[in-house]
Amino acid sequence: MSPFTTPGLARFAEEVDAERARQLARFGDQRHPDGTGNVGQQEYAESARRWCQDAFGCGYGTWADVLDKKVAEAKAERDPARLRAELIQVSAVCAAWVSDLDRRPAAPACQCLPASPAAPRIYCDACLAAGVSPS
Ligand SMILES: [Zn+2]
Repeated sequence: MSPFTTPGLARFAEEVDAERARQLARFGDQRHPDGTGNVGQQEYAESARRWCQDAFGCGYGTWADVLDKKVAEAKAERDPARLRAELIQVSAVCAAWVSDLDRRPAAPACQCLPASPAAPRIYCDACLAAGVSPS
């Protein structure tokens, strides 16, 4: 029985566990100073917060905006307990983003022609549908 209640989180946690094992094998147990909480980082967090709010306010918010805001907020924290809480939030946003990616239908394979950069490109239906087209 999985200890996770959020759909998709068990798979995410298993993959994070596997990645952590690879990191530990490659780099060993890392200990570093936090390097967070300076004025520039706090100012950037405020600007990332405003950017994210404006982007979602206009209906154009993205996962990149959300993650950038959460990472910026973590990097703005000097207090270890608050930094820890922010890092957990960063992880939760990563889990949500991965969950969204995992539930998207597979994109059709690109069949653009030709592969040579010398000739003009003929765009395939998949790329045209995805908005990749000559401009
Ligand atoms: Zn294509």
